[in-house]
Amino acid sequence: MPSENEIKINEAYRNYTPPVNASMIVRKLLSTVPDKYLQGLDCVVLTNEVALSRRDRLGRVWSRGRKFDKSRVFGRYHPSSRNSLPYIELRVDKIVAGLKAGPFLLRDTSFLRDLVFGHVLFHELGHHIHHTIRPEHTEKEDLADTWAGRLNANFARKTYWYGVPVLRIYKFMRSRKWI
Ligand SMILES: [Zn+2]
Repeated sequence: MPSENEIKINEAYRNYTPPVNASMIVRKLLSTVPDKYLQGLDCVVLTNEVALSRRDRLGRVWSRGRKFDKSRVFGRYHPSSRNSLPYIELRVDKIVAGLKAGPFLLRDTSFLRDLVFGHVLFHELGHHIHHTIRPEHTEKEDLADTWAGRLNANFARKTYWYGVPVLRIYKFMRSRKWI
């Protein structure tokens, strides 16, 4: 394993206990990421919808030139601002609801569940990489998805020595809109 990166994981739920150990899953996912991609990232905040301010919860956001309801947001990247260092926010209740809505295979297979968390976490980490380390002039959401796929494949390679054909699984999951 690479030297343990010290990204803090802060649990900030309100009236909610996740049915899975989200903090452990995120720790496991982060431990496979090369340190250079985590540089400058302060923490990952695990939260749920009711813990958010009205402004973060209600209304719509722009993404890929379209407007989306904020209730469909699973995670967000917060670049550094005057008040905070860069961090990633994961809406665990939303991710879990997505798992529950999927087929039983998705709910009951920890490996697939990890990939779903990985997809959201690594997508946001992709925004961090784009902001801080490697700016590229590509549609930023597509770029973040590319990082998500790359880092998830890396996670699976490091975690499962027998070499899961993760890109194929990934393609399948995406074609089914599981992620
Ligand atoms: Zn994004």
